[in-house]
Amino acid sequence: MNEQQRKEQAQIKQDNHPTDVKSGKDNIDRIKSTTSDEMIAKYFQANYQPPDINKARKRRKEDVQFHYDFSIPEDMANIGKGKKFLIRTYGCQMNEHDTEVMAGILTEMGYESTSDTNDADIILLNTCAIRENAENKVFGEIGHLKPLKLEKPDLILGVCGCMSQEESVVNRIMKKHQHVDLIFGTHNIHRLPHLVKDAMFSKAQVVEVWSKEGDIIENLPKVRNGKIKAWVNIMYGCDKFCTYCIVPMTRGKERSRRPEDIIQEVRHLAAQGYKEVTLLGQNVNAYGKDFGDMEYTFGDLMDDMHKIDIPRVRFTTSHPRDFDDHLVEVLAKGGNLLDHIHLPVQSGSSEVLKRMNRKYTREDYLELVRKIKKAIPNATLTTDIIVGFPNETEEQFEETMTLVEEVGFEAAYTFIYSPREGTPAARKKDDVPEEVKKQRLYRLNELVNKQSGESMKSYENKTVTVLVEGESKKDPDVLAGYTEKNKLVNFKGPKSSIGHIVEVKITEAKTWSLNGEMVEKTVEVN
Ligand code: SAM
Ligand code: SF4
Repeated sequence: MNEQQRKEQAQIKQDNHPTDVKSGKDNIDRIKSTTSDEMIAKYFQANYQPPDINKARKRRKEDVQFHYDFSIPEDMANIGKGKKFLIRTYGCQMNEHDTEVMAGILTEMGYESTSDTNDADIILLNTCAIRENAENKVFGEIGHLKPLKLEKPDLILGVCGCMSQEESVVNRIMKKHQHVDLIFGTHNIHRLPHLVKDAMFSKAQVVEVWSKEGDIIENLPKVRNGKIKAWVNIMYGCDKFCTYCIVPMTRGKERSRRPEDIIQEVRHLAAQGYKEVTLLGQNVNAYGKDFGDMEYTFGDLMDDMHKIDIPRVRFTTSHPRDFDDHLVEVLAKGGNLLDHIHLPVQSGSSEVLKRMNRKYTREDYLELVRKIKKAIPNATLTTDIIVGFPNETEEQFEETMTLVEEVGFEAAYTFIYSPREGTPAARKKDDVPEEVKKQRLYRLNELVNKQSGESMKSYENKTVTVLVEGESKKDPDVLAGYTEKNKLVNFKGPKSSIGHIVEVKITEAKTWSLNGEMVEKTVEVN
């Protein structure tokens, strides 16, 4: 992307050009000043286009450029020498992986990581906007960090991630949290060196949020969290526009990485000794649909993954609508393609699914499950469910309960619907009382726990293969890892097994984990 395009895309941008070096006093003055409503209103009017769902729906056709030339500008390569950074991550795997990229960039700028806020020269909050309580947590943390910022005026405090893509959030931070130095979004992470430099020198808050998605930048550095499992982005954004969801606005349009870049990254991870990769996208089954020059789908990509010498390949998240027969056929080949499929259903009622704009019915979903189970008889299915969608009736909720039983989900992430500003569902009147929603969530969780407990019980006295990740958080004498079906296993074994796939005999099942004993044999799985 050239500088002109970048400027055009910078939809929220304050004057952030370095003038002279700012002093601690400049910082304190800024923190004490409150930005007037009038100034903010004027600023947003001039610079920012709030999410517009109708415009967003038309964005598919615009071209995405691929860049392979990222580098840290010379004058910033050592700007962090002798300094430390801390990134606090909220939300999904996508955010965790973005944190790895930001850590990679900061490391190349000379910074070292720390887990102690008091020790940090830069603190970034990588935020999640999916539900209101996720946002409340972040605002709580912004408040907690104010005394530290007053004590250490040169500390750079930044807010990034999905919340920064929301106008109301940026507005609130500018108005009420002047101790935040830097706000940037999900599309301009590669601009971090420039943004940090601006924050160091600018006397004003530095705000750079692109309301339009950027291009794909391929060679960003990464500091991965661990040497056993790795995240690999295969695509960015989402064009599904489920009516409750903010993601298409915070993450932009669907854009796929080229297969050769993904394959090379996974091969490289395998060569470095990684044992598992998880391919990431908001809707991985839409992978490749945006390629104008070739036919290459998610099924084709998984087929190519199958040929790579890495023991385990997972993917998340699947949208049922795009889960095609070719993908089912490829997954049935097994090998390193694991038979655990996370397939968010959201509701068991066709009427609610229609209002959610999920574009499949209860029957379509059950038919897909039948197909998967026929092709992969041992497949384990897990899901995401929202209860209390506006005006969900008791009967509609009951349909979700019966679907959970019929499919036999072994685990589920369950949520109470949370209205998100700018989404169509948030404009609907809702006649379901909060207490009823809480009751529904409770009933659903009871059912899911029961099913999870039963599936765990079926492992007792059986031997499973476990990728050993490290010591258990509760007891350093116990090791912990995950089975192919993503069940957490705690067991006693030698520390030398960390990073290897071993066999464990299960001695006791709990609701969400298994206890066992290692069988004296390291398994080689390819
Ligand atoms: N792309 C994935 C899909 O379609 O299944 C999900 C991505 S989203 C980060 C993860 C989950 O958050 C969703 O599956 C949904 O259950 C939940 N979610 C999203 N928006 C929500 C909202 N407004 N209120 C409650 N839960 C929500
Ligand atoms: Fe949100 Fe997933 Fe729907 Fe996309 S497919 S809008 S990320 S819930």
